[in-house]
Amino acid sequence: MTAVESDQGTTSAAVLKVRDPATGHLLDTLPVDGPEAVHATLARAREAFPGWSDTPVEERARALFDIAAAVRANAAEIARIVSREGGQIIAEAEIEVETAALTFEFYAGVARHYGGPAIPSTSATTENIVRKDPIGVVAAIVPWNYPLTLWAWKAAPAIAGGSVVVSKPSPETPLSILRVQELMTSSGLPDGVHQVVVGGAETGHALISDPLVDGIAFTGSVAAGKEILRTAAENLTTICTLELSGHDPFIVADDVDVPLAAELVAFNSFLHTGQICVATERVYVAEAIFDEFVENIVKQARVIRLGDPLDYGTDMGPVMNDRQMAHLEAYVAKAVALGATVHTGGKKSPEHGELFFEPTVITGLTHTQITDMGEIFGPIVPIVPVSSFDEAIRLANDSLMGLGSCVVTGNLERAMQASRQLRSGSVWINSGTNDAFGGPFGGFRQSGQGRELGIEGYEAFLQSKHVTIAHKLEPSPYWFGRRHD
Ligand code: NAD
Repeated sequence: MTAVESDQGTTSAAVLKVRDPATGHLLDTLPVDGPEAVHATLARAREAFPGWSDTPVEERARALFDIAAAVRANAAEIARIVSREGGQIIAEAEIEVETAALTFEFYAGVARHYGGPAIPSTSATTENIVRKDPIGVVAAIVPWNYPLTLWAWKAAPAIAGGSVVVSKPSPETPLSILRVQELMTSSGLPDGVHQVVVGGAETGHALISDPLVDGIAFTGSVAAGKEILRTAAENLTTICTLELSGHDPFIVADDVDVPLAAELVAFNSFLHTGQICVATERVYVAEAIFDEFVENIVKQARVIRLGDPLDYGTDMGPVMNDRQMAHLEAYVAKAVALGATVHTGGKKSPEHGELFFEPTVITGLTHTQITDMGEIFGPIVPIVPVSSFDEAIRLANDSLMGLGSCVVTGNLERAMQASRQLRSGSVWINSGTNDAFGGPFGGFRQSGQGRELGIEGYEAFLQSKHVTIAHKLEPSPYWFGRRHD
């Protein structure tokens, strides 16, 4: 299934075919925005920028609250779109829509509160102020796995801070953002403050390489992130945030309730069909409880009900596309060739649809084999025994990625050791992955640069300007001619 295809029929322009991954049905066909359309969109954004950045913060905050209200008023419809285009189970899609609304409300509040400091004056007749000015025109590029949340984490702080935004959703999931764009327009957001361009990597490249762009906020793969950094270097465009791939470890200590720990690890591995940047992709389990843990997580994997994402009884939907399916099948084939044991799953589930893959538990791969095989981004969880908590931490950190890490332990000392020593942007202890609006989210090492959410996720779209104001124009004894008086 190709998302962007050239329409061989009536027109030579490229079109985007958006399909439902659960059924393969065509949901919509959209024209792709080429470089000219992208440039024209950016020109409208540039025009809107001075007015929006000068709009009093109370009015900007009001606009964000109005967007949140409009999203909430249409939540059921938007959640169905999210579920249809991205294969997310409906209960989760509803949370995603609510999260987008809450993000707009959170940054409406932040914008009203947060400003730059007044710093010590250089003299009794001078004031020194640090203004926090908006970056300007922001290009927001979003992947398919959380099309609204990851978009809102960029658009909301940028708009709140006075920037204007051109967003490019994934070519596989543009419909929910396009629907929200309609609501933003009808809720009264001024023209050009937020716009959407549609297309794949080429449209994204046209967007970020245009000199009209001041800042780039990106979530996606490491490969695309590196490409984006190279492109940004051409115009020295500011990188606001780069949120890239993860390969997250989960450490299970020998002091835990094993069935409960297995339930949590299963949830963290298989939620959204494992297509979460902070999904568990490597589990390090204390040797003493290894067999019991594997037995329990296999039980959990077998409880999961695959099916229609719009059915509230479904636990797990499809993977996103043929590429993901081929990747998962190749992963299992390679693991087996290396001598791994597949305890459950390991294959497609065609009775549910072409893109359904069974929750899969694997043992017998070494830590190095797992790290060499890279990001899974699907419902496969490899488990490795470890001889000590120190070894688990060492292996967890032995990765080029550093997005999130999870630990379960009842021992406070171990919990504190993990929170200090784990090299990742988030550490969750006795908890699966979750985000708090006030806390920053992002990656160490190749998992990214900068942080979304929290104050850091607002600062990302601001730049500091040092303003010096003398109380009045007075002669200085250092000026030419006056030095000799
Ligand atoms: P992707 O990198 O293929 O695409 C992401 C977005 O970037 C899409 O909109 C795509 O069209 C665009 N794009 C791709 N190449 C581009 C280029 N050269 N210039 C401009 N735009 C370009 O990723 P995906 O397959 O959509 O999403 C899955 C990946 O995203 C996984 O690797 C996952 O780990 C990562 N991800 C990271 C986070 C995070 O917060 N760190 C969150 C979700 C997903």
